Amino acid sequence: MAATNGELPPEPHKLFDTILVLDFGSQYTHLITRRLRELNIYSEMLPCTQKLADLEWKPKGVILSGGPYSVYEEGAPHVDPAVFELDVPILGICYGLQEIAWHHGKNVLAGEKREYGHAILDVHRHTGKQAHADRLFQGLEDDMEVWMSHGDKLSHLPTDFITLATTKNSPFAGIAHEEKEYYGIQFHPEVTHTKRGVHLLKNFAVDICKAQQNWTMEEFVGKEIARIRALVGEKGQVIGAVSGGVDSTVAAKLMKEAIGDRFHAIMVDNGVMRLNEAKIVKETLTAGLGINLTVVDASERFLGKLKGVTDDPEKKRKIIGNTFIEIFQEKAKEIAEAAHGSEREGEIEWLLQGTLYPDVIESISFKGPSATIKTHHNVGGLLEGMHLKLIEPLRELFKDEVRALGTTMGIPEYLVWRHPFPGPGLAIRILGEVTPEQVRIAQEADHIFIEEIKAAGLYRDISQAYAALLPVKAVGVMGDKRVHAQVIALRAVQTTDFMTAECYPFDFKFLNRVSTRIVNEVHGVCRVLYEVTSKPPGTIEME
Ligand code: GLN
Repeated sequence: MAATNGELPPEPHKLFDTILVLDFGSQYTHLITRRLRELNIYSEMLPCTQKLADLEWKPKGVILSGGPYSVYEEGAPHVDPAVFELDVPILGICYGLQEIAWHHGKNVLAGEKREYGHAILDVHRHTGKQAHADRLFQGLEDDMEVWMSHGDKLSHLPTDFITLATTKNSPFAGIAHEEKEYYGIQFHPEVTHTKRGVHLLKNFAVDICKAQQNWTMEEFVGKEIARIRALVGEKGQVIGAVSGGVDSTVAAKLMKEAIGDRFHAIMVDNGVMRLNEAKIVKETLTAGLGINLTVVDASERFLGKLKGVTDDPEKKRKIIGNTFIEIFQEKAKEIAEAAHGSEREGEIEWLLQGTLYPDVIESISFKGPSATIKTHHNVGGLLEGMHLKLIEPLRELFKDEVRALGTTMGIPEYLVWRHPFPGPGLAIRILGEVTPEQVRIAQEADHIFIEEIKAAGLYRDISQAYAALLPVKAVGVMGDKRVHAQVIALRAVQTTDFMTAECYPFDFKFLNRVSTRIVNEVHGVCRVLYEVTSKPPGTIEME
């Protein structure tokens, strides 16, 4: 069963100095957490409705985020007043500043002027008993460039507060309590438009909250392995799917380090993976990383079900998703039966999930007083009759941290820096019917494109790239002979969050080279196009 000593093993917020970010619904809240992590300071986000008495750990400091509401409105969200009794420093950002002011005298109202975009801050310096408040702007210019997005303002300074900074429109762009460590700023230090915003966050977290900058993957890895061991116990077994992507590979390697062969990885070859992918992943995960892996070659079963599906792209996704669950479940049961009754090992009780922190943030972020908060889905029920508990060793990590962790654990660079690959694989890059012949063409063309991107040193610059196969034929001349053959569309995008994306501006020589190689080397293709739609309105994948 769970932890051997009956107590749950400690989570990072109990092991590392933690800055708690309370979310009032700003679209930038997650960035506050990320910036702190980039400074090697552990930070977690919780909704602004969090009751502090329910918190089983004590933060080193609290940041109140921005938000779309107005503090003076009926029904506006307010922080648990217990935050002011915690005896830790508090920084309010935008709505957060207004919230601190509201708590100290209800002195916020709608401004005559909204203020969006760049502003120049006039930073005031203090002496004597007030000098301690200057630590927030320590090392920053007196005319710091900041980014604003607000319509409300403080009518006057709350009692016992002093002004740290002003702008033309905001006489209270930065404030601090005279004695207590409460700070408020009207601008957003977490967005890159505030050029030295990270420095300000560091001043708050390190100099004011005294948080240690010890959140590194080298520190995390050992602690997480100990946590997994305690959670799973001495005999417990875990099962999980791997795909060759960075998240599942890193999660699998962590499990292997923690419990060895009591972690069973399953890779389902669905027949629509990249060229030679199943073989390469198998070698890397087993011979390279020592993971106990079972590969199920189910290509024929998938391709059989995809046969004749031409109408609705959603249908392809559903077929592949459902067939995957079927096969994973069959294999999981086989492994569980084989494991059953072994003296050395217990039953399979756990399912590994590669959940990352952005998924957690998405599920807990504050969506407004009227919106219901989504409950976190429990995939444990996914495997019928097995009643598995979920184990999510990456749930505190951002993607860049997962990559750093992978590097720390010796996972090869090509896996760590891999572009994302969709679950339904090439099936949604082959427009029209998916047949073994179409899969061959898409795989070969994609392989050439990616090989050339790597050779040109562009792979890490591009967020995602692939070759798609269009469901049309065009005429060409090859070897003086008229051909009627297929058309490949290349897609390459740059993005930071995959919510919006721009097409990658290749130089023309590069595209020419790729096109020549594909037409010459991939039998059945006579034309190559470059797809230039941005997202939105396009999506990154084609179907
Ligand atoms: N709604 C508040 C205002 O307009 C706060 C805005 C924010 O936090 N970005 O001032």
